Amino acid sequence: MAARILFLPHGGGPMPLLHDPEHAALTEFLQTIPDRLGTPEAILVISAHWEMPAPHVTAGAAPELIYDYGGFPPEAYEIRYPAPGNPALAGEIAAGLEKAGVPCVLDAGRGYDHGMFVPLKLMYPDADVPVIQLSLLASLDALQHIALGQLLAPLREKNILVVGSGMTFHNLRAFFVPGLVSAADNTGFESWLQDTCSSEMEEGERMRRLANWHQAPGGVKCHPRPEHLLPLHVCYGMAGTKAEVVFDGAVMGKHVTGLLWN
Ligand code: ZN
Repeated sequence: MAARILFLPHGGGPMPLLHDPEHAALTEFLQTIPDRLGTPEAILVISAHWEMPAPHVTAGAAPELIYDYGGFPPEAYEIRYPAPGNPALAGEIAAGLEKAGVPCVLDAGRGYDHGMFVPLKLMYPDADVPVIQLSLLASLDALQHIALGQLLAPLREKNILVVGSGMTFHNLRAFFVPGLVSAADNTGFESWLQDTCSSEMEEGERMRRLANWHQAPGGVKCHPRPEHLLPLHVCYGMAGTKAEVVFDGAVMGKHVTGLLWN
């Protein structure tokens, strides 16, 4: 069984786990994942909430949760998701990157952030699948993230699930200031992204478009900072093909997209 690669929107902080009605469509989608993809041997998460100067991989046997959000009710800080780590797979990833000349840090002390445990608790609530996280690069450079994904391509031979966890719309102020980003900008960017990722086209062209995401309609308005978009670039780099649009819905009033590479 080959790896499946999924880019998903993870919503706002812990809200998908707190039964927030504006996350209902996303929650329902995440809960269908096991039926669609089965249960993998391990899950590799590239979360928008971990940026490091060089790639870091969680290498602990039982990483703790990092409640990296603020201003939520007490239950948001009592969420448990005791998924085991997978130090062997972490070591394999680090070795592969090192071999390609990219130093990679095995971080045994780093826990799981909410970009991991919020969606995974909905997808695999028993927390019985081992999980590792890979950081983004602090450069936030699109092409570097595609290249990082390309170096992970040997993992496609494994029965694992790769999850890029971000949001295709991520302008935080716009969630609270109506009209800051127009519906046309939001929808324009989602349409561009879906077309870029799921249409038939030469892969060089797809890569060029993704590397220049900031030139897309609404791109910079939807992503004043691209950390929630870049997990998608890593997924694409790893897959190197078109994706299927598997989520096309609203989260907190904004149109967002989920993608699957089979
Ligand atoms: Zn986030």
